[in-house]
Amino acid sequence: DDSDAALRLPMRPLGGTGLKVSVLGFGASPLGGTFGAIDEAAGIDAVHHAFRRGINFFDTSPYYGLTKSETVLGRALRDLPRSEVVLSTKVGRYGVDQRDFDFSAKRVTASVAESLERLQVSYIDVIQCHDIEFGDLEQIVHETLPALAALRSQGLIRHVGITGLPLEAFRYVLDRAPPGSVDVVLSYCHYCLNDTTLLGSLPYFRAKGVGIINASPLSMGLLTKGGPPDWHPASPQLRTAAAAAAAHAAARGWDISSLGLGFSLRQPDVSSTLVGMFTRETVDENINTALRALGSTEVAADEAQVLAEVADILAPVRDLTWPSG
Ligand code: NAD
Repeated sequence: DDSDAALRLPMRPLGGTGLKVSVLGFGASPLGGTFGAIDEAAGIDAVHHAFRRGINFFDTSPYYGLTKSETVLGRALRDLPRSEVVLSTKVGRYGVDQRDFDFSAKRVTASVAESLERLQVSYIDVIQCHDIEFGDLEQIVHETLPALAALRSQGLIRHVGITGLPLEAFRYVLDRAPPGSVDVVLSYCHYCLNDTTLLGSLPYFRAKGVGIINASPLSMGLLTKGGPPDWHPASPQLRTAAAAAAAHAAARGWDISSLGLGFSLRQPDVSSTLVGMFTRETVDENINTALRALGSTEVAADEAQVLAEVADILAPVRDLTWPSG
């Protein structure tokens, strides 16, 4: 397994947290069955395999599989050295309905205690307000963040983040939150082959000194051979264009996921790119993609050519997103 240990994944600093995270992070939402039923033992093996091959960053939420992802990840983490793992989970989102969001101080405080238990750890490295656009942003600023700051002073959590789809929601909170109360931003589906709108916010985030995590580089399954799950919010037009891009890449000898992940990983301002994974094979595939993409400073001519062709196919749907919150 460790024959390729010399080829380690690069690490990047996570903003001003002092943490260093692997450029490729393990998105644990599939461990909760978000993308279809999974074999729990295989999922735990995937986490162990990822750690052995240099992934140190693992992200989950009580929402994924309605606590199942945290429980399965917790079982896997028991066998790993805690201080060498950067663990992030979330508060505030517990289901799909508006009423399943609760960013009150009382709920998020209880939520952290529940997550610590399910994850079987004594502290969480990064706790994130999950999908803030569904909450009241004034409450996030004036109630949720202070509650999390209190948990930080008790040592239960180390750093605080915010996640969501609309990039303006991050600005709203970061413009109003006291300095030092938000350390990390997790954006998703905004730095991938079909949508690069995150670029417009990078200078602002840099100025704020927050660490930047890019999640869903495969746009939650749009940029895969098999296509997205039924619940995917993309319009039929976007789905059709992504499928055409995948078919074209395949005809040119490329897997759209490898092409897409390589593209996302080359963005140096992103500390870690989180991909959803649940098997050893996918972990290997994505680590190999990362090593290939970051192994040389220039994109090989044949890859650049296919990337340009795929960009043409995706041009009519470029930066198209969907409503959230
Ligand atoms: P993703 O873009 O990483 O896509 C995941 C899907 O792609 C899964 O079906 C997975 O099996 C498949 N896949 C992964 N590697 C593949 C490969 N090499 N070939 C073919 N298919 C492959 O989307 P995601 O899982 O939604 O995002 C990654 C992680 O980011 C999540 O698990 C979660 O931890 C985090 N995230 C957080 C938020 C938030 O906080 N609001 C939102 C989205 C994602």
